[in-house]
Amino acid sequence: MTAPQSPTRVLVLNSGSSSLKYQLLDMRDSSRLAVGLVERIGEATSRLVHTPLEGGGERRERTGPIADHDAALKAVSEELTQDGLGLDSPALAAIGHRVVHGGLKFHAPTVITDEVIAEVERLVPVAPLHNPANITGIRTARALRPDLPQVAVFDTAFHTTMPEAAARYAIDVETADAHRIRRYGFHGTSHAYVSRATAALLGKDPSEVNVIVLHLGNGASASAVAGGRCVETSMGLTPLEGLVMGTRSGDIDPAVTFHLKRVAGMSTDEIDALLNKKSGLVGLCGDNDMREIRRRIDEGDERARLAFDIYVHRLKKYIGAYYAVLGRVDAVAFTAGVGENAAPVREAALAGLEEMGLVVDAGLNAARSDTARLISPEYARVAVAVVPTDEELEIARQTFELVTGDVKKGVPDSPTA
Ligand code: ADP
Repeated sequence: MTAPQSPTRVLVLNSGSSSLKYQLLDMRDSSRLAVGLVERIGEATSRLVHTPLEGGGERRERTGPIADHDAALKAVSEELTQDGLGLDSPALAAIGHRVVHGGLKFHAPTVITDEVIAEVERLVPVAPLHNPANITGIRTARALRPDLPQVAVFDTAFHTTMPEAAARYAIDVETADAHRIRRYGFHGTSHAYVSRATAALLGKDPSEVNVIVLHLGNGASASAVAGGRCVETSMGLTPLEGLVMGTRSGDIDPAVTFHLKRVAGMSTDEIDALLNKKSGLVGLCGDNDMREIRRRIDEGDERARLAFDIYVHRLKKYIGAYYAVLGRVDAVAFTAGVGENAAPVREAALAGLEEMGLVVDAGLNAARSDTARLISPEYARVAVAVVPTDEELEIARQTFELVTGDVKKGVPDSPTA
């Protein structure tokens, strides 16, 4: 008799307020078995798009009302069952959940218990948009497979190694502590993955290299990673701080908000919406898609040009600042939608930095590829890399390691949050 095979599959769930994204991976070779998305949950026009990636199945689509996350996950489960990949399969080792805000308490992937859910709930005031949706996804998945280990992988976890000098704002300490106001940082799963993949591209161990990671998607953030540990990042208490983004302002004088309230008569909610949804590239030129902005620039559009210049100027400032924070930089890595695809952004952000050892080879920069690659010439002192991010694989990897390996489980016993 042969021993039963140990389970090797991980389902990764990313629950938004009205969406549920999922991927099923086999951790023997990190391959994707199926990927999909349910959107407009709770509306009459919900849509599920499911793509099996093994066995030659076709992409399938369902439209029609899906009332809530519970119904969404059940629909996903039906689709997976149709491909012979059902959630009741003994091959499923665990479910890994993306959780946006883990505060200070969660500095590592964590097996979900009632206590963990309660702590994630306590963090809702600092992540009002994201954590409630993440909790809904967790509750739904636990109800469906109560026997299965479920793991929370936090966007903030990678940044918990930041020194206090980087993480604290220079405001009254009692007020800051009473309201948990500090720099948490986000996109941590991506920064972790990309900094490690960059080290691998250089043929080094992460502990040997210092990397500046530029995650430039619709949301955008930079991080300084020294020997595998994050020492600084650009997003703060919320994902509003830092770089210019698709619709978010990034850094701004906080007095602008008082001014908008006192002089322009705007409410707090209106200011919140202005800075989060109507600022950044969209506020500057009406478009948040870098492809469209480049097309307009090619047609001589001045507003698009200025928006691009402001975006790149901020990026360059952060590269310089993080260079100084790290002291020695081995690589600058670009990732996410803009970072992976927009060669003009990469070129402009590093233009004029030859004295710092940063050079981009025009031919390598222009070449398109889906794999991690260097775009700096061989002689350059600092490597410049384009590294496609893979947050789902990172969540699956961390989840699988936790449930199969000898890694500490449960809530880490850090004293504050
Ligand atoms: P998020 O996950 O934050 O929604 P992504 O990482 O998918 O965002 O990035 C989306 C952005 O990437 C788009 O808004 C667009 O600006 C940019 N982008 C995607 N493809 C290209 C491309 N080929 N050239 C330039 N920019 C691109």
